[in-house]
Amino acid sequence: MPDRIYNFSAGPATLPYSVLQQAAKDIVNFQDSGMGIVEISHRSPGFAAVIAEAESLLRELLDIPDNYKVLFMQGGASSQFFMVPMNLLAPGKKASYLNTGVWSKKAIAEAKLFGEVLVPYSSETGGFRKVPDPGEYQVDPASEYLYLVSNNTIYGTQYQKMPVAPANVPLVADMSSDFLSRPVDVTKFGLIFAGAQKNLGPAGVTVVIVRDDLLERAPASLPTMLRYQTHADKGSMFNTPPCFSVYMVREVLKWLKNLGGVAAIRDINEEKAAWLYQIIDEMPYYRGHAETASRSRMNVTFNLPTPDLEKKFTAEAASLGMAGLKGHSSVGGCRASIYNAMPQEGVRTLADFMRRFAAANPV
Ligand SMILES: *Cc1c(COP(=O)(O)O)cnc(C)c1O
Repeated sequence: MPDRIYNFSAGPATLPYSVLQQAAKDIVNFQDSGMGIVEISHRSPGFAAVIAEAESLLRELLDIPDNYKVLFMQGGASSQFFMVPMNLLAPGKKASYLNTGVWSKKAIAEAKLFGEVLVPYSSETGGFRKVPDPGEYQVDPASEYLYLVSNNTIYGTQYQKMPVAPANVPLVADMSSDFLSRPVDVTKFGLIFAGAQKNLGPAGVTVVIVRDDLLERAPASLPTMLRYQTHADKGSMFNTPPCFSVYMVREVLKWLKNLGGVAAIRDINEEKAAWLYQIIDEMPYYRGHAETASRSRMNVTFNLPTPDLEKKFTAEAASLGMAGLKGHSSVGGCRASIYNAMPQEGVRTLADFMRRFAAANPV
């Protein structure tokens, strides 16, 4: 792969090389049709097969039961911040949100436009260094749903044990940055959504998995495009879907299935993350942002002794073919995003570099 470097960017993020190569062919001539995948009708049999296979692969990989719909939506994960309350939070009712970072704060702000929002837990005062244990908060059983962000992309925290809601309170999860990185029991959730560009494909499509009974909650006044029911009824083809992004999702899902599925990739992800956390634990030179029990397997966040050394670190890494290691502006420092498609070799290369850099740049 002489034309490739290791891309540690948080999103859009690295994709499997074999998928990119296939896409490069299909963008010009899809299945010998003489037309590219970005040119064919979304009503054509060729595309119908693509979206159908994307859905069936997702159902297979995550073991999604029949009483859940799988939707391919647009507007990014951010549009789900308002679609969730618009569809699930009736006027005069309340919803509960666990505040574990910027993405949950944004979702809370949107939900407040539609109803009362309770925040039974927040790690904001501690700098969003952790996610809560189930016993750390109390959820009002009158909540329409309990909302969480499974992996906090910016801070590098992730639930290792999912929150549990009171009986009859559905869990709603933003899984944008760890979707398909590990097995998830879908039956424990009412709704799961994930923007594609972290772990699933290019930007432009957002996957929504929603339990059938929740589709009926939306008020009659909701615009057609903003109802989950509309997209469920039309197989995500009420209007033109983001065809190329859906095609890419299918290719990534095929790749993941060939690799052994989500349990197999979970093991690989655990191994990759452990290499970096081992360095953070062994070398005081690197300070991890997340508390140990809340560490993300997807985004590893850390600081060096000084901001100047952090600058030098990211610049030197880039010159060696490791891009995108600068942390998010709201926490600073460094962040290595090591999603499904980041090869083990990339993480090993980074780990070696971290050891060498610390030795070569003592404080
Ligand atoms: C990136 C991200 C988002 C925002 O996604 P957009 O597609 O840009 O709207 C939301 N939630 C999480 C957890 C993210 O990582």
